[in-house]
Amino acid sequence: MQVIRTVKELQDKLGEEKKNKKTIGLVPTMGALHKGHISLIKNSVKDNDLTVVSIFVNPTQFNNLTDLEKYPRTEDDDLKLLLHEGVDFVFLPSVEEVYPEPDTREFDLGSIAKVMEGEMRPGHFNGVAQIVSKLFDWVRPERAYFGEKDFQQIAVIKKLLKIINYPIQIIECPIVRENDGLALSSRNTRLSEEQRKVAPNIYKTLKQSIEWKNQGLSVNEVKSKVISELANYPFLTPEYYEIVNSNTLEPVSSWNEIAVTPDTYPIGCVAVYCGEVRLIDNIKY
Ligand code: AMP
Repeated sequence: MQVIRTVKELQDKLGEEKKNKKTIGLVPTMGALHKGHISLIKNSVKDNDLTVVSIFVNPTQFNNLTDLEKYPRTEDDDLKLLLHEGVDFVFLPSVEEVYPEPDTREFDLGSIAKVMEGEMRPGHFNGVAQIVSKLFDWVRPERAYFGEKDFQQIAVIKKLLKIINYPIQIIECPIVRENDGLALSSRNTRLSEEQRKVAPNIYKTLKQSIEWKNQGLSVNEVKSKVISELANYPFLTPEYYEIVNSNTLEPVSSWNEIAVTPDTYPIGCVAVYCGEVRLIDNIKY
């Protein structure tokens, strides 16, 4: 496993490998790595000759300065965790290297980037598009791996690919959870012991909502019930719960509005504050 800190070194090394027709999988991360990230990496190692993991806390996707400052940075632990996973290159660029000048590019990501996370975190997805487009440009992987925990992000990346038109396959990986159901997230380390005990109720409520649907509750009734249930727990303050079409991310108004296929289904997406920590999760109906 080679640790690389500059774009030039990355491109020199990958250039050599590409001459030998090696296929490359890219796993973009912001570090504080956990089993969710590792599941993406395992898929990449299985599918490709070489795996590049990038670790970069991207300032342009944070719309909240405190969130950026408090984002966990655990480089030594991350490198240790990656050591036996079959990763070939870990790319850890500096902010100065990635953004020698402010990135003024505005991507027209359309309606998928305007709802839910896009609405609550203005500029977030444009920042994601800025960093991912740079990583795609530098690495030019055959495949790139993203987790379904950030469901809307995957839709945004697919849209970005249509704009920049690179031949990269996006591989979507299922959400990895703790035994108690809490979706793994780097932000979970910021929860207090008491908050950590309450946080699994987010997924518990999402799972219950499937039963409410099966009992005959309408989309709107399920939405309001999820919000009111979550708000009943100490520390939890729901920000939104939306039930949308998995393809368009447009709101669904009735359950039978969508002809369900493996790619198209109603999905419930939630953002909840647990104390000061903002967590997201989702469930497929
Ligand atoms: P992050 O470091 O939070 O930017 O996440 C890097 C990648 O890991 C993104 O594609 C995330 O969707 C994915 N990821 C984060 N948490 C999980 C999880 N619990 N299960 C699956 N993928 C995840």
